[in-house]
Amino acid sequence: MIGKFIKAGLNRCCPSKVLVRGGRHAGNTIALTFDDGPHPEHTLEILEILEQRSLKATFFLQGMEAERHPDLVRRIDQQGHQIANHGYIHCHTGEVNSKEYVAGILRAQQVLEGIAGRPVPRVFRPPYGATSLVTLWKLLKLGFQYVFWSVDSCDSFVQHPDELVDSFEKQPLRPGDILLFHEDYRLTVDALPRILDRLMAEKYNFVSVSELNAAIAG
Ligand SMILES: [Zn+2]
Repeated sequence: MIGKFIKAGLNRCCPSKVLVRGGRHAGNTIALTFDDGPHPEHTLEILEILEQRSLKATFFLQGMEAERHPDLVRRIDQQGHQIANHGYIHCHTGEVNSKEYVAGILRAQQVLEGIAGRPVPRVFRPPYGATSLVTLWKLLKLGFQYVFWSVDSCDSFVQHPDELVDSFEKQPLRPGDILLFHEDYRLTVDALPRILDRLMAEKYNFVSVSELNAAIAG
């Protein structure tokens, strides 16, 4: 398990390869990210909420779910959001050896590119935010960028959309933050409009993780 400290250190040493949050060059930008989809019921609703507000996000998709719901992946892609890799199955780095783990990520990449019909940037978020240094090294060599998050919406922990809205209001955001949400919770979909409307009122500029990375590299 890679610690928060190591992640932050890596982010400082090589921000173009390991992104935890954008740095001081990120302006007023933040990146919305949604993990674990596509989801047969929630993805379309999330896309609609984003479209109504003309916002762009990044979706870290599981390869196996993408194979089951290619139309949803196409829809995400065609709506101008970034599609990115969250492994083939939702697997912790400690559950399989590094060879199998990397093979799963390459398989997921192939699935996403097959559906999109073009190369997709090699952007990977490890399930649970966990990685081993061996896997990290192997994936960096294969040209993958690691993207973690700096603000957890806590949608995995709360029980009600109001709690999610409240927990968000208590977290002061900084420009360059990467916000973590999950596609598999009904309460996320229900809370999202209120959270986004507040952030829009605060004049944040929403970008994909690759755009955020470009902003801090530039
Ligand atoms: Zn996940």
